Amino acid sequence: MDNGFENPVCGGDGRHDDADERHMARAIDQAYIAEENGDVPIGCVIVYDGQVIAKAYNQREQLNDPTAHAEIVALTQAAEFIGNWRLHGCTIYVTLEPCPMCAGALVLARMDRLVYGCDDPKTGAVRSLYNIVQDERLNHRLEVTAGVLADKCTAQLQDFFQRRREERRNGDFL
Ligand code: ZN
Repeated sequence: MDNGFENPVCGGDGRHDDADERHMARAIDQAYIAEENGDVPIGCVIVYDGQVIAKAYNQREQLNDPTAHAEIVALTQAAEFIGNWRLHGCTIYVTLEPCPMCAGALVLARMDRLVYGCDDPKTGAVRSLYNIVQDERLNHRLEVTAGVLADKCTAQLQDFFQRRREERRNGDFL
């Protein structure tokens, strides 16, 4: 297994409201599309002024692109929608704790807030391995809420890897 998402954990303690849960549910829907395409199920949406302006899912396998994480794809969409690379006033909802690449991109985008589902102990760059989005040395920091619908996000990833292991055992990969 060549990825770090295999053992997500629930680490929820963030304060959030119903709107946060609604938006996270849409991110989970996006993640299912990734799964249908043979990608690890990770999804996200970006919200501005209460409105979803971008939605995306992990397309690493589909596009054969190591940078095609859900967050990166969504950031490009959101910047296009707003007509500015600075995403002030935006909140991103993503099912899994962002990796170092995506956390760095969120800082570069000047995003206001990050809401995510479950922690990623192997590559998480928000609190598991690093905290890139709140590093005082960088020129921008995000407000972070972790653990929104964490159980569902965790189950989605675990079910995916469980199925994949079973398929391999059964020889379906041949
Ligand atoms: Zn990433």
